[in-house]
Amino acid sequence: MFDYNEFSKELKELEEKGLLVRIRTLQSPQGAWLTIDGKKVLNLCSNNYLGLAFNEELKKAAIEAIEKWGVGPGAVRTIAGTLEIHELLEKELAEFKKVEATLVLQSGFNANQAVIPAITTAEDAILSDELNHASIIDGVRLSKAKRYVWKHRDAEDLEEKLKQAKAEGSRRLLVITDGVFSMDGDLAPLPEIVEKCEKYDALLMVDDAHGEGVLGSHGRGIVDHFDLHGRVDIEVGTLSKAFGVVGGFVAGKKDLIDYLKQKARPFLFSSSLSPAETGAALAAVRMLKASDELVKKLWDNASYFKTEMQKLGFDTGHSETPITPVMLYDAKLSSQFSKKLFEEGIFAQSIGYPTVPKGKARIRVMISAVHTKEDLDFALGKFKKVGKELGVI
Ligand code: PMP
Repeated sequence: MFDYNEFSKELKELEEKGLLVRIRTLQSPQGAWLTIDGKKVLNLCSNNYLGLAFNEELKKAAIEAIEKWGVGPGAVRTIAGTLEIHELLEKELAEFKKVEATLVLQSGFNANQAVIPAITTAEDAILSDELNHASIIDGVRLSKAKRYVWKHRDAEDLEEKLKQAKAEGSRRLLVITDGVFSMDGDLAPLPEIVEKCEKYDALLMVDDAHGEGVLGSHGRGIVDHFDLHGRVDIEVGTLSKAFGVVGGFVAGKKDLIDYLKQKARPFLFSSSLSPAETGAALAAVRMLKASDELVKKLWDNASYFKTEMQKLGFDTGHSETPITPVMLYDAKLSSQFSKKLFEEGIFAQSIGYPTVPKGKARIRVMISAVHTKEDLDFALGKFKKVGKELGVI
C-alpha cells in the first residue's frame, strides 16, 4: 500500500518553515470587506482590482447569458462549443484592445499553455525573463524549443541571449515577459524590449494579467500604457482579475489567432468558457470601454496607501502598480505578521517560496477601487500596530 506519510511528512516540514499555505474560506462574496471564520475583515489580497467580481451589471449579464444560453458550453470550441456570445466577446475585446483579433480561453494560465507550445518547435528558441509567471514557465516546459533566461527587466542581457540564440542557429525567436510582475508590481521595460525584438526579428509576447484593466487608457493594458500598439506580437491577458470574472485571452493579428484556433491544445481539447462567464466578461469590457472612473479610483487608492506605508517606514519594494509588496524577507516573520493582521481585522496573506524567491517573503497588499479612504486608513493603522509589535518599523 502507498505510504501517505511521504506527503504528511513534507507538509509538516513546510509548516515548520512557515511555508505552508493557509487556505482561507470566504463566507461572503468578493468585496472590500469579507467574512472569514465568522469574522469581518478588510480584504487586502484579492485581484478584484476594480470590484467587478460582485458588480450588479456583471451579475445581471451573467444571469441573462444563462437564461439565453444555458449553463454549459457543451463541447470544446472546435466541435460544438463555440456560441455566438464567445465570438461577440472576442470581437469586442479586440476592439477594446485595439488589435485585429482575440481568442478567449478558460484562464490566463491556459492562455499561456495555449500559445507557447503552439508556435515553437525544437528548431526555435524561447527567451524568458527570470521572474516570469509560473504559467509561462510551464508553457515553456511544454515546448521543445531551446530555452534562454534573461536577467529580470534587463534588456541588455536579453540582447546577449538573442545574439546567442541566433548564433546557435535557432529559427524562430520568441521573447516572453510578464507585463506587470505579479509579486513585485514592477513593469517590464517594454519599449526597450520591443526595440531588441525588432532588431533581431523576434516575436514578442507579453503576459499582461495584472495590467489588463489597470494600466493604460481605460485599463487597456501595458501596450497602451507605453503606446506600443502594433509593435507587440502577442498579448496574453486574463479575465480573472480586474475584469472580475474568470478566463483568459490572447490578443494579436488575425493570422496568429486563426493559427492558434488550429493548434492550441487547451482550445482544441478543453471545453470553452461557460455562458455566464462569457456574458459577465462581455459586460466588463463594455463597462471599461464606457468609463475610466474605476481605473482612476484604483490608482488614487494605491498611491495613497503606498505613500502612507512608506511614511510609516515600511519597505514596499519597487512597485509601479497598485500591487504593494510589504517586504518582510523572513518567511516565518511574514506568516506571523499576516496572522496578527487577521486578528486585527485585516486579510492580507503572506507570500513565500516558491511563489517568491527564498528570503523574499512578503505581505502582498492588493488595493482595489472599491476601498474607501476609511478602509485604507484602517489598514494603515493596523499595519502600524503590528509593524511596531513585531519590530518591523
Ligand atoms: N499570468 C500572470 C502574470 C498571472 O499573475 C496570473 C494569475 N496569477 C496568470 C497568468 C493566470 O491567470 P488566471 O488566474 O486567469 O489563470
